[in-house]
Amino acid sequence: MDRVLVTGGAGYIGSHACKALSRAGFEPVTFDNLSTGWADAVKFGPLEDGNLLDRARIDTVFAKHQPIAVMHFAALSQVGDSMKDPGLYWRENVTGALNLIEAAVAADCKRFVFSSTCATYGDQDGVVLDEDSVQIPINAYGASKQAIEQILSNFEATYDLQHVIFRYFNVAGADPDGEIGEFHRPETHLIPLILQAIDGQRPALTVFGTDYPTPDGTCIRDYVHVSDLVDAHVSGLKWLIDGKGSRAFNLGTGSGFSVREVLENARRATNRDIPIEYGERRPGDATSLVSGSSRASSELGWTPHRSNMKQMISDAWQWHQSGDYKQ
Ligand code: UDP
Repeated sequence: MDRVLVTGGAGYIGSHACKALSRAGFEPVTFDNLSTGWADAVKFGPLEDGNLLDRARIDTVFAKHQPIAVMHFAALSQVGDSMKDPGLYWRENVTGALNLIEAAVAADCKRFVFSSTCATYGDQDGVVLDEDSVQIPINAYGASKQAIEQILSNFEATYDLQHVIFRYFNVAGADPDGEIGEFHRPETHLIPLILQAIDGQRPALTVFGTDYPTPDGTCIRDYVHVSDLVDAHVSGLKWLIDGKGSRAFNLGTGSGFSVREVLENARRATNRDIPIEYGERRPGDATSLVSGSSRASSELGWTPHRSNMKQMISDAWQWHQSGDYKQ
């Protein structure tokens, strides 16, 4: 069975990707330092404990498993944190990715699927965000991901490293089978925080800013279900295996939801009240991030099946309520 090295395979998106890869007939080999991931989320292939800042360790794992491709998810991913400690983001994300990319090339593993972000586009309110939009990130997280995209492009030119870049919008939901789901410690993402506020694990959900230039004053995001997102990754891998060349794809639905709209959907989907507080804007937050591209659909044949807000919240709520959810 062909193996795929999945960095961050113990994390939220990475673990769902491992499940999708396994279903598609690949063996996912997780490389993860378990700093934010969970060993018990690694259910679909072996776990190699390791740090991307340790190049020798990465080389050992390539030599042992001989993967045909890499899916790179491991990264620090909190916009707010990246504004507090940008050096950390450049060191962990960019240096870590550079080590991984150099190790992949050295091992002659030249198919690379990269988890990038709409945060590379910055805050371009009113602009349709497609893959050719200018990338002007406004936070260190987005900047670190943009730098990795640039490294991939340079390594393609010199070493023929074929890569697919996925620029995610906001990922939500959980495995419909309930095997895996979202769990961060500390949690910073809107939907899991809402669910925690609903069941009393936190006193309230704080809305970060109500004075944005949007219809209801709160930030707008484009939410995509994690299961749909990882399906696109399998298609991206097959795209590379078929020799279709390097390409970037937005992964979003094209529908924007404000924070207040997400709250209202959560109230309806769970049939529970949500304690809400109103706070300051969070540094680094763009006003609106909504995909304006259908490239993933037209070229990869990607069809999101569960990415409507009600379904995403219901799946996340089911996971949240299950015994697997860690306090
Ligand atoms: N948000 C919020 N309160 C929270 C967490 C998030 O109002 O406790 C807002 C945040 O400002 C952003 C949206 O919810 O507009 C999504 O934030 P999240 O951290 O989930 O994802 P991001 O957009 O940063 O990737």
